[in-house]
Amino acid sequence: MTVTFSGLRAVDAIDLQLEEGETLGLIGPNGAGKSTLVNVISGYLKPNEGKVWLGDTDITGRPAHRLCRLGVTHTFQGVRLFGRLTVAENLEVGALADGSSRRKARLAVGALLEEHNLAQYADAEVRSLPYGIERRVSLARALASNPRFLLLDEPAAGLDENETDDLRHVIAEIGRTRGCGILVIEHDMSLIARLCDRLQVINSGRTISLGAPEQVLSDPVVREAYLGEADAWENDNADS
Ligand code: ADP
Ligand code: MG
Repeated sequence: MTVTFSGLRAVDAIDLQLEEGETLGLIGPNGAGKSTLVNVISGYLKPNEGKVWLGDTDITGRPAHRLCRLGVTHTFQGVRLFGRLTVAENLEVGALADGSSRRKARLAVGALLEEHNLAQYADAEVRSLPYGIERRVSLARALASNPRFLLLDEPAAGLDENETDDLRHVIAEIGRTRGCGILVIEHDMSLIARLCDRLQVINSGRTISLGAPEQVLSDPVVREAYLGEADAWENDNADS
């Protein structure tokens, strides 16, 4: 697909495929087009060219709430929760998004609070919580709609090392137990390398590398693209 913003080709004829049961890492320098691409897949933006397929169904341009009912769910870069609602209420919004009844949604919320160690915060307003907890709520809310495909835009941004490690286990567990396809945009290379079955690297709106993590991360073209963004590789090296 292609997406242009007043002449700028933010996404320039990119092909991307996500299978159920796999975790795909989408990486690339800042401004590469990662969020734009994911926002098109999840229905928040329309592409100028190209199509989005869910199996045999053309879902291009369908609004996000419809896609959610079909099983495509997205967490945004940065938390976008309802700050004045409680944790339980935020999860309920997520659980209702797939068309569930209120009763079914309530049951789902109870299970998610337990599963994600959020029960003690159930009645707290989200805006009163530390950032690390907010991010957990954000992921739990995405799961509340029972996604078949889960798109995570920088879920570890702003988390410390321990929280990032916890997140990695949670995402791996989601893949194992729910069998959904997971697309994760992330700058932390050690997280990406351990979590993902495949990596796709984009730069300036184009795919520059695609394949198994070890192959992609040692690709000179990829290292070249990251010149000047040493942080990403420092994380990688610190870990190996
Ligand atoms: P990434 O998520 O990889 O950092 P983005 O997809 O956010 O990159 O942005 C890709 C390019 O598109 C950048 O040059 C960015 O400035 C531009 N861009 C993103 N969203 C908009 C928008 N709504 N209007 C204009 N330009 C945008
Ligand atoms: Mg982004």
